[in-house]
Amino acid sequence: MADIKLDISPMYEGERIRKDDLWVELGGPKADGFELSLSAPMDEIQDGRVTVIGPELKDIKEGSTIPFGMIFKVGGEKIEKDLESIIERRNHALLSYISGLMHLNQRYDIWMRVGKSLAKKGVTSWKEIFTPIIDLYKAEMPFIEKMEITIITDPAKVKEELAKAMAVYKTRDERAKGLHDEDVDVFYGCTLCQAFAPTSACVVTPDRPSLCGAITWFDGRAAAKVDPEGPQFPIPKGTAIDAVTGEYEAINEMAAKRSGGEYSMMKLYTFFDAPHTSCGCFETIGFYMPEVDGIGLADRDFKGATPNGLPFSTMAGQTGGGKQIVGFLGMGILYYFSPKFLQADGGWRRIAWMSKGLKERVKAGIDEDMMAKIATEDDAKDLTALKAFLLKVDHPVVNGVTRKVDGKKITEGWVLEDISDEIKAKVLAYIEKTGGDINIDTVKSEMALTENQFMQVVEALQADGVLE
Ligand code: SF4
Repeated sequence: MADIKLDISPMYEGERIRKDDLWVELGGPKADGFELSLSAPMDEIQDGRVTVIGPELKDIKEGSTIPFGMIFKVGGEKIEKDLESIIERRNHALLSYISGLMHLNQRYDIWMRVGKSLAKKGVTSWKEIFTPIIDLYKAEMPFIEKMEITIITDPAKVKEELAKAMAVYKTRDERAKGLHDEDVDVFYGCTLCQAFAPTSACVVTPDRPSLCGAITWFDGRAAAKVDPEGPQFPIPKGTAIDAVTGEYEAINEMAAKRSGGEYSMMKLYTFFDAPHTSCGCFETIGFYMPEVDGIGLADRDFKGATPNGLPFSTMAGQTGGGKQIVGFLGMGILYYFSPKFLQADGGWRRIAWMSKGLKERVKAGIDEDMMAKIATEDDAKDLTALKAFLLKVDHPVVNGVTRKVDGKKITEGWVLEDISDEIKAKVLAYIEKTGGDINIDTVKSEMALTENQFMQVVEALQADGVLE
């Protein structure tokens, strides 16, 4: 190993660098950041080299946040294209082995912090951090024979290389979209994030890609083949216990074993009953809103509050940690293009709200008839506005969702739990004003009631003897 001033051990995985201990922040919510691994012919790699484009670590002002890119060029006889993502993702663990360094998220979303403790140890250059990383990679993934790393801190160059990286991620994802769960006999599991979320165990299938977005089924297959002792492993699919919810005996067994008995059931295509675990690396979050009996979806770039009043960061804090949190679910972007996307819960028919950026990004995956019925922050900033929007567009949650996958009606639509005197008075005034000539559009816009709810109030008024 190179001259090492660092403490490196798996025991530091999961370490957080708080604001007070921060030397430099790389990427994250305030700046561009990415990591990319690319395979290359052996003669095009200068093994062990770390190239830096842009300011050195010692020249960056303490406390600043800078754009940051990492490109890993790897070669080896056994290295195939499908391993690029796996090598890239292992960065999450290996960089976290360094005491005083924090690495979160993946791909175009990385968020790193270099702690002051590294300055105290006399670390001044990127090379001092990344040369040991090359050694670690080769020790943990022996199929890597040669590796060099380019670190980019020049803001313009980060932008330029990030755009190229986005094209690479897209190509990987496009390939994965063509394959479905029916086409394969084996799914893959991944426990790479257990250092951060000890009971988390991911299942990666063609139709339920990883929540971090960094591992497709192809990547899982390549990793399990070349590194059988590694964190990705095969799960022979067997027969589904319930094909609609995506419940498989083999997945339940895996969940019980890998979560240390914390849970014993995990279903692939649902939000509500034994959902997939969420470790914290998810690209997007789903949240159930009981007030409209619908699901909202937000991405990390959405900085405002969602209609339930909570921003992404607060919900992410509640959802991560490797638990099954009913009502919240971490999901990868690629899952939005899956024909099995939350199919047990009604799929797109159950989606009531999305952050605008996310809706735009996944629009090719949204069912055409739902496109105009899903609100964004432009349509609804709170639950009152959301209810009015859903009523206006006649969203399926209003009168009950019928599941596309099996034609089963799974929700009853909105009902009034409590028929107050106030609502009774409003309905009575409306009936008197119109002389009983009811217009359902006016009922929706003036009283924010569905047809069913209106009839509920009419029946209550009849029971009171106020109406005949
Ligand atoms: S989020 Fe899941 S699939 Fe992605 S690296 Fe972590 S454990 Fe693996």
